[in-house]
Amino acid sequence: MSQVTHTVWSEILGHVRRLHPDLAKGWFGQLEPGHLDRGELTVSAADPEQYHYLTHRSGRAFAEAAQLTIGRLVSVRFVLAELSAPQPEPPQPGQSPVMLNNHYTFENFITGPCNRLAHAACVAVSDAPGQAYNPLFIHGSVGLGKTHLLQATCGTALATGKAKQVLYLTCEAFANDFLDAVQRGELNTFRYRYRHVDVLVIDDVQFLAERERSQEEFFHTFNTLYQMQKQIIVSADSSPAEIPSLEERLVSRFSWGLVTRIDKPCFETRMAIVRKKAELRGVELVEEVVYFIASRIDTNIRELEGAINKVEGLSRLTGQVADLALAREALGDKQPPREISIEEILEAVMRRYNVRLTDLQSKKRSKSIAFPRQVCMYLARTMTRHSLEEIGGYFGGRDHTTVLHASRTIERRRAEQPQLQTALDEIGQALRGLDSRR
Ligand code: ADP
Ligand code: MG
Repeated sequence: MSQVTHTVWSEILGHVRRLHPDLAKGWFGQLEPGHLDRGELTVSAADPEQYHYLTHRSGRAFAEAAQLTIGRLVSVRFVLAELSAPQPEPPQPGQSPVMLNNHYTFENFITGPCNRLAHAACVAVSDAPGQAYNPLFIHGSVGLGKTHLLQATCGTALATGKAKQVLYLTCEAFANDFLDAVQRGELNTFRYRYRHVDVLVIDDVQFLAERERSQEEFFHTFNTLYQMQKQIIVSADSSPAEIPSLEERLVSRFSWGLVTRIDKPCFETRMAIVRKKAELRGVELVEEVVYFIASRIDTNIRELEGAINKVEGLSRLTGQVADLALAREALGDKQPPREISIEEILEAVMRRYNVRLTDLQSKKRSKSIAFPRQVCMYLARTMTRHSLEEIGGYFGGRDHTTVLHASRTIERRRAEQPQLQTALDEIGQALRGLDSRR
């Protein structure tokens, strides 16, 4: 092992600049050469941005230049400066147990156009953690199978021995664990636990947006794991750029790997899912009933499961076979609900909160107007198929992040305030009531 002298290093840099002027950066001058050990030259980058650029863009150029200078086959390995410094001894290598739902396997996951890419990416990651797509970011609205896929990936990587230490947790659990560690003064243990894994999965990462310090900690965890080529997988309800107040540096890191979306399942996929779920529960459903359930419910897969439950429950209760008549009864034999329009939502909200249309569409921010406006956006998001952009268009051309933020705010308050929940239920019923009067 020998230390590379500055003369040798300047020569290497010179070759890189001469042979690849398009790749060379001014900050190359700040790079620190390390040791040359068994044909491998170590070079320290000052920050993760540089590190990323070096490993992804200019690795080959450096290797070529080093070979030219040193005169033999040399590979170049980049490291992050802060991490190559000696680390304090970790106190306890206590690994949290992974709590995985054993029904969430790839085998039980039905693929279709809506989720094929996300599924393929997860299979690839489970087969080669840290190498296939890193980080892997999966987004889509609730009940579309994100948690299922994430857990299947963990379970498979563990079962096949492709990963030994896997940490799967919700964003909430990560943030709580972090706060707990801060309060107890056990940050070292915390960091050890999160930074010595082969795969780290954070589910529903959008909740990091409201937690600055946890976000900061996650950022550093991310850098460490990434640098060690450990796999990071996250899920969220929207793409990185659409998560409000997610720091730009995290947004950009998430896009280093693969960002993939899960959409609502199409009819054929819903049919296949209903068949699979029924089979898994040992419920016999004739094709007619499968068709009925799949055509009645097109929102998400959790609702599909709920519908199967209802049919199964009624069949058990009455001792009758689960035929079409019973399924109709179980699900309430209404025609599929008519589409509710944004205009109808606006009218219902105007009546309830006594506001004018011009106010809702204005830029006014007073609470008495901003709140009903947010309610409108929330209802439009949950009761119609309009995109965030389209909904924003109805409210004086607001952009999609405003709509997303509004609906999240109402969703959160709805969970906290029973009066709001009642109000929203009543507006919803009134809107659907319009339906039955038709
Ligand atoms: P999310 O995390 O996106 O909110 P989940 O992963 O919790 O959604 O999925 C909700 C339910 O739907 C779970 O019981 C899951 O097993 C099921 N599910 C979702 N997608 C599929 C699929 N493609 N095939 C089979 N089951 C699915
Ligand atoms: Mg989930």
